[in-house]
Amino acid sequence: MKICMIGTGYVGLVTGTCFAETGNDVICVDNDAEKIKLLNEGHVPIYEPGLDEMIKHNVSEGRLSFTTDLARGVKESLFVFIAVGTPSSDDGSADLSSVWSVGREIGKHMNGYKIVVTKSTVPVGTTERVKAIIAQETKDQFDVASNPEFLKEGAAIDDFMKPDRVVVGTSDPRVTELMKELYEPFVRTGKPILIMDIRSSELTKYAANAMLATRISFMNEMANLCEKLGADVNLVRRGMGSDPRIGSSFLFPGVGYGGSCFPKDVKAIIKFGLEAGYAMKILPMVEEVNCLQKRMLAEKVIDYFKGNVKGKKIALWGLSFKPKTDDMRDAPAIEIINLLLSAGAVIEAFDPVAAKETKKIFGERIGYGTKNYDVLKDAEALLVITEWNEFREPDFEKIKSLMKNPVIFDGRNIYDGKKLNEKGFTYFSIGKKP
Ligand code: NAD
Repeated sequence: MKICMIGTGYVGLVTGTCFAETGNDVICVDNDAEKIKLLNEGHVPIYEPGLDEMIKHNVSEGRLSFTTDLARGVKESLFVFIAVGTPSSDDGSADLSSVWSVGREIGKHMNGYKIVVTKSTVPVGTTERVKAIIAQETKDQFDVASNPEFLKEGAAIDDFMKPDRVVVGTSDPRVTELMKELYEPFVRTGKPILIMDIRSSELTKYAANAMLATRISFMNEMANLCEKLGADVNLVRRGMGSDPRIGSSFLFPGVGYGGSCFPKDVKAIIKFGLEAGYAMKILPMVEEVNCLQKRMLAEKVIDYFKGNVKGKKIALWGLSFKPKTDDMRDAPAIEIINLLLSAGAVIEAFDPVAAKETKKIFGERIGYGTKNYDVLKDAEALLVITEWNEFREPDFEKIKSLMKNPVIFDGRNIYDGKKLNEKGFTYFSIGKKP
């Protein structure tokens, strides 16, 4: 099938490439000329495991191309996917300006029947409004559908190629058949393609992200309570998660949720809930708990040094909001670094892939190591912010010999505190008294 993917970011690039992988002809469109130039020169502008090779393969097979020419993409395609960003506005609502402008452009360049699909995460009613915008521009027949994306950065290819479910919002039988045909290769193991009305489909995405964010904030609260009461959140987590009604995933306390989705989607659902006349009670608290949690580790460090971190070198391991991505959007590391910098600390950080993105935020205000041990020399504390696999079993003797002061603040609970104490470290984690 002929597909145009408008917006070639984390979602559009992965989705477009995976559709090409199953034999479709895909044109990826973006208005960022630099990004398209990079892609056309064979470079991949984001870090996502496995994506490089898959792009190369499909480009060389002639099934995948990149352009800034939206008109060509639309004209040559049956499916037109909208995968542009929907970031937070200042008031917390989703900024839909890119969606509206793409809708207008699609309308202007219609040349026959198309199915226009919102893949971006969009508030309830957006897809209907896109339909109205396109209809103002064209007399051609078209349908719209909602098809929210559930991929996780860092595992995006796998998630897209083997989804747990595909959600499609449409009430049109022809669209249903064509969308099922498009997704059939991805659900051969029997995972469902859930067809529902457009509004329910749009809300499903927000409800899923809000639920996951809620689990994280809930566990962070449990962790904070554990610290007060002398319990160990890791044991509590296991005890809770063994109950199949609860399940063990997404019960890990840490430094708060970040990334391009949870923070903005929680804000947006609160906002469009209010606009619809329903003031949600749980989600504003989920957000508040998260804001506090993002500060927690830096505050523990400042407390440990009795309020005086001025001139002290603090080493950070991990910057991205989670492992296997270079995405720094709303990463807890940003808040942690800001707090430590404003208290006068000197920061030196290492991340396997996110240093370039971090430099766009902090420039030379912090130092960047090229290896994990580089940043430890004379450090007075080490903070683990992101649980990259390579941080899990480091050489602790080497760490100790490099640091001025062997103190570890483990924001992801990846180390065994007892063993570290035996090795002479002072160790702080989340949800357990030191
Ligand atoms: P992104 O910022 O990485 O990519 C968006 C792309 O759209 C950018 O390359 C931008 O240049 C392009 N764009 C913006 N306006 C445009 C226009 N008028 N014409 C053409 N291109 C335009 O964003 P993303 O992370 O890929 O997210 C896209 C959407 O998918 C968002 O709604 C997001 O909430 C949702 N989503 C993201 C993830 C994720 O893990 N990143 C997962 C599921 C859903």
